[in-house]
Amino acid sequence: MKITAAVARSVHAPLEFETLELDDVRDDEVRVRLVAAGVCHTDALVRNGVLPTSLPVVLGHEGAGIVEAIGEGVTAVAVGDHVVLGFNSCGACPQCESGHPAYCADFPRLNFGGQRVDGTTSLRTDSHPVASHFFGQSSFATHANVAARSVVKVPSTVSLELLGPLGCGITTGAGTVLNVLRPESGSSIVIFGTGAVGNAALLAAIVAGCSTIIMVDVVEKRLELARHLGATHVINGLHEDAVGIVREITGPGAHYAIDTTGNAEVFRQMIDALAPQGSAALVGAAAPGTEASIDIGAFLVNSPTVTAVIEGDAIPQTFIPYLVDLYEKGLFPFDQLIKTYPFADINQAFADSETGVTIKPVVVF
Ligand SMILES: [Zn+2]
Ligand SMILES: [Zn+2]
Repeated sequence: MKITAAVARSVHAPLEFETLELDDVRDDEVRVRLVAAGVCHTDALVRNGVLPTSLPVVLGHEGAGIVEAIGEGVTAVAVGDHVVLGFNSCGACPQCESGHPAYCADFPRLNFGGQRVDGTTSLRTDSHPVASHFFGQSSFATHANVAARSVVKVPSTVSLELLGPLGCGITTGAGTVLNVLRPESGSSIVIFGTGAVGNAALLAAIVAGCSTIIMVDVVEKRLELARHLGATHVINGLHEDAVGIVREITGPGAHYAIDTTGNAEVFRQMIDALAPQGSAALVGAAAPGTEASIDIGAFLVNSPTVTAVIEGDAIPQTFIPYLVDLYEKGLFPFDQLIKTYPFADINQAFADSETGVTIKPVVVF
């Protein structure tokens, strides 16, 4: 069938709207009519050539929509179901089988390979293949064929215009707190970066019962929003000594820390801001080859646990409905991070995400 997609043809260039041919669904695939798709930092990293993939490609990996067709082997969803699209995973490797599909042994190929496992793509223009299945989806398009494992059924009681970002950014922030760091009620946490991931981590820290939640950013307006969302303290890292202030607020340092920026200096600050035996998690993507230095003398004395987290270490099929449930109960107001744009304005949505004007742009089809 013919679909309309925003195609990335060359690095750094705006996305171009094109009519593409989409394959019929295969036995293990689901065709989704997209209602909305979030713009994530990773889309921009790929468009800007920081993370390599094959071009031309249809990006987009925070899709939400309605099931339009299913392959013969698909049982998890039915035509008409509301779904959020998540990353793909093989379902058979040790990480998948132990409930950690974000660490699937085949993750790079399934999510950044630009094609199905058999090497085919689902999209073409004039018989030239266009890379598909980006992050399991390629959802900057009116329709997408995705593997059944990429599909998460969600209740039809919440607008699909809101739910796409649960497929990546929101889950990344919330899952890092609720699935990995698991802060105790009454503990302290410092979160570097107040984008969608950082603010989702903030909302999750409130769910977890953290009593001290410190947000660090360099954009004053973003810090205002973080305070509005429930941060107990905000620090402008541009003018202030973030580590010193975190130590002042928390006594020995924060129990937990998250770096959503992937910036080498911030990574160091995240570790230095921790209390003895505190735990820190890196979630911000950096270009391959980026190195950071740490003071290993202080590292031993403080003995922190430092980890890194992909996609909130979540099982999308259980974690996304859990977040939707929290949202419906008023306990996880992630809608405050979202601004919608018509699909035609997708390049503006990218620009607004890059400049920080919009925390989480979502294009609506
Ligand atoms: Zn796997
Ligand atoms: Zn993402």
